[in-house]
Parts: sequence; structure tokens; C-alpha cells
Amino acid sequence: MLIVMNNNVPLSDILELKEKLIKNHDVEIHESKGQNYHLLGIVGDTSTIDASWIESHHIVERLIRVTSPYKKANRLFKPEDTIIDIDGHKIGGENFGVIAGPCSIEDRESMIDLAKHIKDSGAHFLRGGAFKPRTSPYSFQGLGEEGIEMLCEAKKITGLPIVSEIMSIDKIEYFNDNVDIIQVGARNMQNFMLLKELGKIKTPILLKRGLCATIEELLMAAEYIMSGGNDNVILCERGIRTFESYTRNTLDISAIPVIKKQSHLPVIVDPSHASGEWWLVEPLAKAALAVGADGIMIEVHQDPQNAKSDGQQSIKPDKFDNLMQTIKSMSQILNKTI
Ligand code: PEP
Ligand code: MN
Repeated sequence: MLIVMNNNVPLSDILELKEKLIKNHDVEIHESKGQNYHLLGIVGDTSTIDASWIESHHIVERLIRVTSPYKKANRLFKPEDTIIDIDGHKIGGENFGVIAGPCSIEDRESMIDLAKHIKDSGAHFLRGGAFKPRTSPYSFQGLGEEGIEMLCEAKKITGLPIVSEIMSIDKIEYFNDNVDIIQVGARNMQNFMLLKELGKIKTPILLKRGLCATIEELLMAAEYIMSGGNDNVILCERGIRTFESYTRNTLDISAIPVIKKQSHLPVIVDPSHASGEWWLVEPLAKAALAVGADGIMIEVHQDPQNAKSDGQQSIKPDKFDNLMQTIKSMSQILNKTI
């Protein structure tokens, strides 16, 4: 971190700032001074320093970050890839993990039937929403715990670990006991109280990128979970809001190699929410694999026209089967295990 001081400020004020930095943080200060400049180079653990606090000093002209503000999620401090392994079902490293299932769990029969199709096609994890973050309070809100019970039954039958979205702190214990991967949806990516509490458990967290979040904000959200002690975080690029209105969101495909460069955490792509169109799911899933993602999450439904949520972006089981065949053959040249 480099602090550029304003010209002609009292040396006593600079000394005061230096003393505060050394007293409160594990850092060293290297000073450089010329006729028209005065720089403080801060070396050490700068992740605990609040940039806006430094900039609130009127003697400071500018602050330049040299390293990223996240530490636990940073590849600099852990060069090897993090691999999430649930009973041999893996995401990260050489392993391309496929999560599939309905947007919402609707009833027992269809959940179990779909789970069997998904398993036969070769997916590794089963998803299903039971607590749904819907834009309208009048839309289907999910079956709650009853839905999770259906998902657990589908897990028992297929052996597939299950993924479901949490929306509130009071359900953490329940999710921790029943779900293999806890999803934090885009709308809760910066629900910091929820993230802090999820840092206290060990269950893997699937953290989806916020609708308008930068890559750094996503990594800082992961840092919240990790700084609490839970290192099992999977990131998910699910499209962001842009001026383009043809698709529901815009898949930020370059975010994948960028995140892989910056962080050791696995990152997957959700082409269903990114596009909002069923026919775009397969091409975007292929793009995700090609660009180095560690997995995909796909919405599948037997009867999309009558789905209780996100039917427009759900693919039928036979289309999902084709998608799996395609990415399996692609994975051979990309050295990924599916
Ligand atoms: C979902 O996965 O069903 C979902 C609501 O996703 P997102 O949070 O990305 O909108
Ligand atoms: Mn959905």
C-alpha cells in the first residue's frame, strides 16, 4: 500500500499517522521524500487497514493499493487450488463439478423423478430451492423445510449430495444438519451478518455473485466467510446487470479466468440465471468449461411451461443429458474430470 501525502503538510501530522498505523497494524513503513513528493510505503499485512480511514486524513492526497484487500481468498497466500470434496464428489482442481436440479422444489414425486434423471446423466450434485428470494411477494416462495425434506429423500435414493439456498441466519443450524452445500444467493451476497454466521460452520458455502457486484466485492464477501473460519467456499458467476436487455443478465465470462488468477477458490458458472433463456444454457455451459470454470449449476425441469419458478430458463432432462454428453467429450481435451 502506497500513501501519497499532500505537499507541504506538517511533518508532525505525518508522524502521527505513521504512529497510528504501526500501533494498530502489523506493518512496517518505508518513507520516501523528494522536493515535490512525500510517500509512505506500507509493507506487511495491509488487509486490516481501512482505505477510507486513511483517505479521511486531509494530509493524504491519494492511496494506492499494491495488493488486494482480501487475504484468505487470495492465491498469493495459498497458491494451490482449493478442492471441495463431499463424499468423493469434487469441485476444484482438475474436477469439473456439475450441480443440477429444479429452480424450486415443487413436490415429492417430481423431485425424486428429476433427481434420478440427473444422476443417470452424470451430474454430481442435486440442487433445489426451498426458500426462494422472489422479486414479487405474490410469487411462489418455496416449500420451506418440507421442500428440504423432499430434497433429502432424493439424496437418499440417488446418493447425490444436495445444494439449497439459505436466506436467513435463523435457519443456519437446520441447513447445517440437512444440506451438503449451502447456497448464498446473489441478493444476499453482501448480507454480512449472514456471511459472518456462515463463517462459524464448516459446511461448504456456494456464494453467488451479487447482481451488481464487482469481482473484488465477491471476493471480499468470500473473505467474510473465510475470516470466520470456514475455508470451504465455492464462488459462482451467475451474470451481472448491464445495459444489455436481451438476456436476463450478462454472463461475465472473463470473471472466471480473473478469479482463478486472483483466488485459489473454485469458481462455477450458472448459465441458467446468467441468460434467463433455456436455449442459451448449453452454449454458455460449454463456454464455462472452455474458459476454465470448476463447474456449472444448471436448472432442469420436466415441464418448464408449468414450473413454479424460472421455467423460461430451465432445460428438460433430455436436453440436460445432451449437455452432459457434450461437456464430457469437451473435458477430455481440456484435461478436466467430469
Ligand atoms: C437460484 O439459484 O435459484 C437463484 C435464485 O439464483 P440467484 O441468487 O443467482 O438469482
Ligand atoms: Mn432459479
